[in-house]
Amino acid sequence: MIGFGQAGGKIVDKFLEYDQRTGSEIVRAAVAVNTAKADLMGLEHIPQEQRVLIGQSRVKGHGVGADNELGAEVAEEDIGEVQGAIDGIPVHEVDAFLIVAGLGGGTGSGGAPVLAKHLKRIYTEPVYGLGILPGSDEGGIYTLNAARSFQTLVNEVDNLLVFDNDAWRQTGESVQSGYDEINEEIVKRFGILFGAGEVRQGQEVAESVVDSSEIINTLSGGGVSTVGYARETVERKGKSGGLLSKLTGNDESIEDQLDSANTTNRITSLVRKAALGRLTLPCEIDGTERALLVMAGPSAYLNRKGIERGRKWLEEQTGSMEVRGGDYPINNSDFVASAILLSGVTNVPRIKELQQVAIEAQDNINEIREESEANLQNLVEDDEDELESLF
Ligand code: GDP
Repeated sequence: MIGFGQAGGKIVDKFLEYDQRTGSEIVRAAVAVNTAKADLMGLEHIPQEQRVLIGQSRVKGHGVGADNELGAEVAEEDIGEVQGAIDGIPVHEVDAFLIVAGLGGGTGSGGAPVLAKHLKRIYTEPVYGLGILPGSDEGGIYTLNAARSFQTLVNEVDNLLVFDNDAWRQTGESVQSGYDEINEEIVKRFGILFGAGEVRQGQEVAESVVDSSEIINTLSGGGVSTVGYARETVERKGKSGGLLSKLTGNDESIEDQLDSANTTNRITSLVRKAALGRLTLPCEIDGTERALLVMAGPSAYLNRKGIERGRKWLEEQTGSMEVRGGDYPINNSDFVASAILLSGVTNVPRIKELQQVAIEAQDNINEIREESEANLQNLVEDDEDELESLF
């Protein structure tokens, strides 16, 4: 995982924290790249030697100030330094690269497509992007940056997973605490999804467990992806006073005790909630090219019938013939969750709106620039042109 720019670094940092907390082992190695020294210093979990400061000769560690063309230039000039950090990780052990960046700023917005292009040229592993769209209240320049970066990045990565800050914005919160909560949501959703592909030591491997190849196959074919998520708390054995607390023995005996119709219904309703609720990038799910359904939770709560029904329902809703499904047993969890990856979505009104606002911003910026050049000329030159410059 490579976090490019401030948002990218913070989100990758959060993935590492999630890994430590849950033992998910999603992140084989993490790198943070930035033009701003202070942002790199603010990270907590990414190792010091994996933090790369680029563009020092140009911006002296102070960032590119939301100029994504400068962000792209600096990334190109210093790509060798980023490669240096990647050289330190065992790439043959990773399933894929994931570049995370906020698309509205400068460093990540400009740098992520440059890095994606570079990695695609050098490695055979898939290169995915996780792009964060800005909130619509952030203003024209951020929207313009995001629209241009989005267009560039989609063409450089094997698949662009998108999270839209605008759809997740909360009112009445400070920007920082708002981002903390949003970043939790990002990590929760993508964590379940990417965690599903990891087989951990000591974990029982059921036949229907999702494998990383299924994630890769769902993402192959490229385009834009979004993720849906829903969860429900369930009682676990051993918890005080719980329904199952009196039961001893292993999970099979719990499974016997759980009403299988309930288990199936819970799964199908979680699948609906995930697909029809708030997606990381809100869109119409009809017309999705490929999808993957992951059901996570204690294995006693996951049954094949439920997953099969959920999968069929998703096929109907998306019209896709390529819907994969499987489970992700997490035996010490007290929840059942469904995560749905919708890959190759094309009916996304938010992107069209973003592009429209970006074009308006671009026109405005050009207009203002021309106008102020003329105004400055008027100010500096004397009316009758009687004065001469020194040289
Ligand atoms: P950069 O450092 O120049 O790449 O720019 P930033 O990453 O600071 O900001 C780019 C965009 O990312 C902003 O316009 C915000 O939309 C978004 N952003 C910044 N910080 C966060 C964060 O912590 N979480 C999320 N979800 N988005 C962020």
